[in-house]
Amino acid sequence: MQIKCNVLDRQFEMFQAEYEAAALRVLRSGWYVLGSEVSAFEEAFAAYTGRNYCIGLNSGLDALILSVRALGIGAGDEVLVQSNTYIATVLGITENGAVPVFVEPDEYYNIDTAKIEAAITDRTKAILVTHLYGQASQMTPIVEIAQKHHLELIEDCAQSHGACFDGQMTGTFGRAGCFSFYPTKNLGAFGDAGAVVTDDEALADKLRMMRNYGSRVRYHNEIEGVNSRLDEMQAALLRVKLLHLDALNAERTVLARRYDEMITNPKILLPRRREGAESIYHQYVIRCTAREALQAYLAQKDIQTQIHYPIPPHLAACYQHLGYHQGDYPIAEQYADEVLSLPMYTGMTKEEQCYVIDCLNAF
Ligand SMILES: *Cc1c(COP(=O)(O)O)cnc(C)c1O
Repeated sequence: MQIKCNVLDRQFEMFQAEYEAAALRVLRSGWYVLGSEVSAFEEAFAAYTGRNYCIGLNSGLDALILSVRALGIGAGDEVLVQSNTYIATVLGITENGAVPVFVEPDEYYNIDTAKIEAAITDRTKAILVTHLYGQASQMTPIVEIAQKHHLELIEDCAQSHGACFDGQMTGTFGRAGCFSFYPTKNLGAFGDAGAVVTDDEALADKLRMMRNYGSRVRYHNEIEGVNSRLDEMQAALLRVKLLHLDALNAERTVLARRYDEMITNPKILLPRRREGAESIYHQYVIRCTAREALQAYLAQKDIQTQIHYPIPPHLAACYQHLGYHQGDYPIAEQYADEVLSLPMYTGMTKEEQCYVIDCLNAF
């Protein structure tokens, strides 16, 4: 049996009639970028997250870059970020000339809240929290620390659509919640898309200008903007998927429980569940000290797995100039050497999953 790490077309097939109707509606509308479909999706996603405003953008990376920029964070400013996050989180900082200051993760793969305060300096302007793999970070102390030190709080929710901490939706704890709708995300489009949610009217207004060349009124460019517009097609398709997001997340939870219960190989460390932070399992990430051997073994059995992520940002080639070395963030480095994401996708059959589990247990 061949098992891919991710399969996107089964999700499409589940709601095919709805997607096709939405796509045709856009094609026939004669209006393709920033229109009524975008507004309708923004309204629906703001309501879903419980925030006042949603600004649709081109990508999750843009959501991060523009949020940092709109909050006035730039050259020389420091932003705290966990050392095992995806490169895009860090690019959201460095793209503005600001400096990422890494904080090691906890055993749930999110920022270790006990290590945040030691990383704060006079130049720290913000904490950028990633709810990695779909599990919310420990937000109570993070919010407290941000308030105490007058820091902005920005959330990278690219992997946490619908994930909550103590019943509160991720993306609603800080000033801005940044989402990606890249096709593989839990709320994925059929191309690139992203959004910021916020309760801050001024920030929403600024982001709306920034995404469209810095203008509120066409050709009246009030600030230096970019082109990060969301198109009508993605917005219309996202609105369809949003209706099913909770059910799709619930399906992943069922798959995760089966992995939790049936993987019994002592060489494999299963993901831990943080009290009060039910994961939406964007990835189901195990750890194994013999990760390379395990991945190769699974590949032999025709099971595809992925590594999120093999190189922590401080060791990425693009950040050599920051001057970090192997050993600077040992926990992130250890995770990079040991993590493995198992196949997990909408429409995964019990038979497929049990084959993966049997192979994992036989390793
Ligand atoms: C996917 C992702 C992003 C970037 O989103 P894009 O839409 O690909 O630009 C940012 N942060 C995290 C944690 C992600 O997983």
